[in-house]
Amino acid sequence: MQLKFNVTGMTCAACSARVEKVATQIPGVEKAEVNLLAGTMSVNANERTVIPQILAAIEKAGYGATVMGDTPVNRAPADNSLPEMKRRIIYSAIFLVVLMYFTMGHMIHLPMPGWYHGDENALVAVLVQLFLTLPVLYWNRAYYRKGIRSLLHRSPNMDSLIAVGSGAAFVYGVVALFRMAYAMGNNQMDVVVYYSQNLYFESAAMILTLVTLGKYLETRAKKKTGDAISRLMDLNPKTATVRRNDINIELPIEQVVVGDTVIIRAGGRIPVDGTILSGRATVDQSALTGESIPVEKSVGDSIAAGTTNLEGYLEMCADRVGEDTTLFQIIRMVEEAGGSKAPIARLADKIAGIFVPVVMTIAAITFFVWLFSEQSLEFALNMAISVLVISCPCALGLATPVAIMVGTGRAAGMGVLFRNAEALENLHKIDTVVLDKTGTLTKGQPEVTDVIPAAVTETELLMIAASLEEKSEHPFATAIINKAISLPKKKVSDFQVLPGRGVRGIIDGTEYLGGNRRLMEEIGISVPDFHQLTEKGKTPLYFASRQAYLGAIAAADVLKTDSVSAVQAMHRLNLDVIMLTGDNAATGGAIGDIAGISNIISDVLPGDKAGVISDLQKLGHRVLMVGDGINDAPALATADVSMAIGNGTDIAVESADVVLMNNSLCGVAQAVELSKATIRNIKQNLFWAFFYNSLGIPIAAGILYPGLGIALSPMIGAAAMSMSSVFVVTNALRLRWFRTKTRLKASQKAEIIKEKRTMTTVINVEGMMCPHCKARVESVCKEVPGATDAVVNLQAKTVTVTGDVDLNTVKKAILDAGYEIVE
Ligand code: ADP
Ligand code: MG
Repeated sequence: MQLKFNVTGMTCAACSARVEKVATQIPGVEKAEVNLLAGTMSVNANERTVIPQILAAIEKAGYGATVMGDTPVNRAPADNSLPEMKRRIIYSAIFLVVLMYFTMGHMIHLPMPGWYHGDENALVAVLVQLFLTLPVLYWNRAYYRKGIRSLLHRSPNMDSLIAVGSGAAFVYGVVALFRMAYAMGNNQMDVVVYYSQNLYFESAAMILTLVTLGKYLETRAKKKTGDAISRLMDLNPKTATVRRNDINIELPIEQVVVGDTVIIRAGGRIPVDGTILSGRATVDQSALTGESIPVEKSVGDSIAAGTTNLEGYLEMCADRVGEDTTLFQIIRMVEEAGGSKAPIARLADKIAGIFVPVVMTIAAITFFVWLFSEQSLEFALNMAISVLVISCPCALGLATPVAIMVGTGRAAGMGVLFRNAEALENLHKIDTVVLDKTGTLTKGQPEVTDVIPAAVTETELLMIAASLEEKSEHPFATAIINKAISLPKKKVSDFQVLPGRGVRGIIDGTEYLGGNRRLMEEIGISVPDFHQLTEKGKTPLYFASRQAYLGAIAAADVLKTDSVSAVQAMHRLNLDVIMLTGDNAATGGAIGDIAGISNIISDVLPGDKAGVISDLQKLGHRVLMVGDGINDAPALATADVSMAIGNGTDIAVESADVVLMNNSLCGVAQAVELSKATIRNIKQNLFWAFFYNSLGIPIAAGILYPGLGIALSPMIGAAAMSMSSVFVVTNALRLRWFRTKTRLKASQKAEIIKEKRTMTTVINVEGMMCPHCKARVESVCKEVPGATDAVVNLQAKTVTVTGDVDLNTVKKAILDAGYEIVE
């Protein structure tokens, strides 16, 4: 089997050879091959179990390694450096406190042992300090090892600054010790006293301890930035109950295959994506959609891994398992977006890249300037060390990525999935939102409201229309087909979709066309314009042969319940809202009125939608396009940011930068708000990092010393440095508690859910003769559990039951009432 790893920290051919060697030495590994430029390694091994060993071996060799292109669950356990760091901090701190007692205690008159006290014991005192410092240096030796190695590789990093800074303090102390020892023997007591008061052993130890403390706090906080992903991963149960050969068995989740019958009891989590075979349940989908109100599900409904069965018993068929489930697609998306680079990070990255050499140069200049301005060697050294340890490229480098990571994770929690960091950044600059009408603002499930025949009877018109539309997937086509469900269909040849206009086809040798006014004009048929329909937001669809106008069928689509408040929220954010539609101006205008949108661009052919977007861009607008992703792909691709409405269990909307998981437009304003909050956070972080460094470095260099007598000790520098990156990470973590101002009222929420539940069942019934039969059938159907309404159409011999009902129960009720059912 082939395993792939990302390996970091390799700089040359010697590195790649070393990594290959440590990997091949592990039992079970047949071959290991490093691609130095790509920073990857592929390994041939017999078992996956070698992964942790390979990771550990590479780590031990001094490089970083992660498994690549693997399912998140199987990924190696997170690094466990935290407990080790904590131990190091505690040990170091104990020695540091004792050291501080000896070096600083006399200033606040703490009692000192006799052998430590006085000039005659100066050498003893220094030796005590040296031996208290050495263990701290030893425990934290990693800084020296890594810092000096990267210095030698000419890519100095923060470790190099610390290594040079604290190393200089220590070396200076050792040199001073020799000078004192020499002075002792040569009776130069003044020299001995001078050095005993000018030592920095405690600086060396303190710098290391404080930096480790800072790193510890930073790592702990950084772990939290990935919380959103680990929470998502925890959603997938480890095992599933599956029925095979009529036996229920509990299997590890990896062994469930497509087609398996999976059983979920009340309270259980759904392990795979699939369709409900039997049972009904209340399902909490909040983890995937951010929508906290549970949804009812029953036979035939699709159900997604990671959602919870609150009550009820379900048997489902596994349609997608493992990495193919929606949950995993979401995890991968959040992970990729969280790890991707935002354009705003570029400058900071550039600066961070040259930061360390620049700081080293400044430290060197500081040293020489003070030395030549007749200060003591100790003072000059002290200032140079302060410069080295106060400056922090970490804060700069962390500022953007941590905020992006937390921001995208938080967004996922609200049901807003970002594909990349660039979209998260660009969204805050948007000034115009273009909304597709059908399926985005409206439910996209129009219904026929009026049938207005002209040259033929109503039934004939419906029959021709439905036959023509049968091959079209347009929502209007579906409306007409539903309306004419009980009518026989004619055979259509030469069928053709005329995008944005309608359809055409040949029935019994005659060519028929159906579609909008534009289409009728093209074939020279004049049609009425049905003002009274269009101003109510209904769309007239005209049908004609080449010779004659046959009649019109009007269909109306209704707004999604929360579209109005979603548009209001967009206006509150000062966004221009534009509705884009292929429908006619009058219908578009009427729907716009209800939705609260005054800018309407109507009669747009599907191919021209992208052109409209680029025209807006040419006028200087930054455009967000929101569509249902089906026929809007070119427009979505043209916009500065594109957003697609998903339906909660399917995120296969490839062309969009952002996917709204809960089928509500409210996510638009939420996403924009979150983008603004994230960018604000990044700017705070960057400001802090720049401000901190541009103030800290000059002060450490002693710029305030000539005027005010302020000189920083290296210890304060080290503490400030550690705190600056802790500050940045902590600030980014605040985004976890980001709350949008766009909130739905509880009643509106309830309606959305109800809407999802409303379903209709149409049954053909034989034997209904009169209004009495109609009433009887309607009443028995209404009594079926879950039914909200039942309507009989005597002509069509159908009953349409509204509500979440079990088909067999309805059929039984009708049969019991003495009527026949036709399949
Ligand atoms: P939208 O922007 O609302 O998605 P389309 O571009 O899909 O609109 O369609 C534009 C217009 O073309 C519709 O309003 C309708 O009048 C007409 N049309 C499109 N497809 C059909 C069809 N299958 N049957 C009848 N009319 C159609
Ligand atoms: Mg459309």
